[in-house]
Amino acid sequence: MSKPTNPLILVVEDEPAQLEMICYNLQTEGFALERAADGEEALLLALERKPDLVILDWMLPKGSGIEVCRQLKTQKDTRHIPIIMLTARSAEADRVRGLDTGADDYVVKPYSVNELVARARAVLRRSRPASVGEVLTYDDLIVDTERHKVTRGGKKLKLGPTEYRLLCTFMERPGRVWSREQLLDRAWGRDADVDLRTVDVHVGRLRKALLKNGQQDPIRTIRGSGYALDNEAD
Ligand code: CA
Repeated sequence: MSKPTNPLILVVEDEPAQLEMICYNLQTEGFALERAADGEEALLLALERKPDLVILDWMLPKGSGIEVCRQLKTQKDTRHIPIIMLTARSAEADRVRGLDTGADDYVVKPYSVNELVARARAVLRRSRPASVGEVLTYDDLIVDTERHKVTRGGKKLKLGPTEYRLLCTFMERPGRVWSREQLLDRAWGRDADVDLRTVDVHVGRLRKALLKNGQQDPIRTIRGSGYALDNEAD
């Protein structure tokens, strides 16, 4: 039996044998589970249960995985939920990577269940920084990790999922210089095939969001090294 505090994973897969295999292995690892066999059911369950992670098959009846992913990432109540896409072909994997679907990670079929479980753990670790429910503060910045709420000077900020993970990473260790590789590892995952320039793009977006109300730039760029959350810089 899973304890109620265990992370809840919604597994969406229309092939019963696959679904069972994934669920059996995740359950053995102590995760709580919900399961759905089509896109409609997946969206309903995600809204109702607010899982900590969605494992989502690409090819599904009643709404493709990519459509489900887009919908979850555009709705206020679900957009913070990390998503791992299961794709059958590397061409699909290329599209997950290339399109801005909002998926946090993807696994290409056939995959080993151990790999999938490891990816699930990694994604949950990144999305549940330090401990769930912790409030991270730095100067006038506050991140409520349980509610995924970010405020600066009391004003709410809207961040995309990647920018949110970057900010949580910075806020865990203010002043520390993070290399692009380290940020990539934390915000996208160790195996992500992401260009290092993508890190710059997302740090740029984070910076823009943080500066929205005309405040001081809290992110310091260290040429050739990386970035740090450091108000003393300028
Ligand atoms: Ca399928």
